[in-house]
Amino acid sequence: MITVKFFVVGLLFFGLLLLVIAYILWRKRSLAFRFATLAVILYGVICTLLFFYVIEIKKPHWLPRQLVKKTNRLKAIRGCDCTWESLHLSKDDYTTFHKPAAQKITQNRYLRTEAQRANWIRHGHLVPVAELEGFGISYLNFSTAHLTPLARKRLYELGRRFRNNITEVKQKKSYFVISSLTRSHRQQERIKKRYSRAATKDHSTHCYGVAFDIYRIVSPNGQCTAAVEALEKTLTQMQQEGKLFLCPEAKCIHVTVCH
Ligand SMILES: [Zn+2]
Repeated sequence: MITVKFFVVGLLFFGLLLLVIAYILWRKRSLAFRFATLAVILYGVICTLLFFYVIEIKKPHWLPRQLVKKTNRLKAIRGCDCTWESLHLSKDDYTTFHKPAAQKITQNRYLRTEAQRANWIRHGHLVPVAELEGFGISYLNFSTAHLTPLARKRLYELGRRFRNNITEVKQKKSYFVISSLTRSHRQQERIKKRYSRAATKDHSTHCYGVAFDIYRIVSPNGQCTAAVEALEKTLTQMQQEGKLFLCPEAKCIHVTVCH
């Protein structure tokens, strides 16, 4: 593969060299030279197009990551859904548990606009969430990967403990996938419009920066029975320890950090 890579890169530089030669020949203004020049220009253009074709279509990993169009890797990986039907969990009422807890631990700090989000990030009320042990973050349409420092700590703890609770060795590398984190009120309104079942709550705890949704578990070879059990166990443990509240949402498990 390295040989092919050097060949293509060499081809490009050869094409560029020919273009330079063509330019010099063109300046001599002879008809025969111009004919030859056009031929080498054509060759140069073909080399360049071929180069970009190979890089862009066949070998995108040769380019730096940020230049490559991001693909949704989760689509390509088989996983198991995390819904209220597939996991056995006990529900905490949203209005009487989730919402008051979110208001209490944030001193009722409710995210309305993007400008406010930037301000909160500057002041450390919201911190960036990285994909660490035991969990990944899917492509986020209506939220950003931020949480309050406490909520982030609990998510990282959940990931770690989830991995420790997996009993099956072959499933040790499983991870759960977060589909939503902190939303501004505007994002919440937009999501309500688009998916009325997904966000029917008035003041979502996502807008306090203390909630996240788990929608999938990804395991090697798609065998996730032990991983599902480990997630059930970990969520229940942390719920019983008074660290988080759980409730169903459309196609996912909604988690509000409360302590
Ligand atoms: Zn949610």
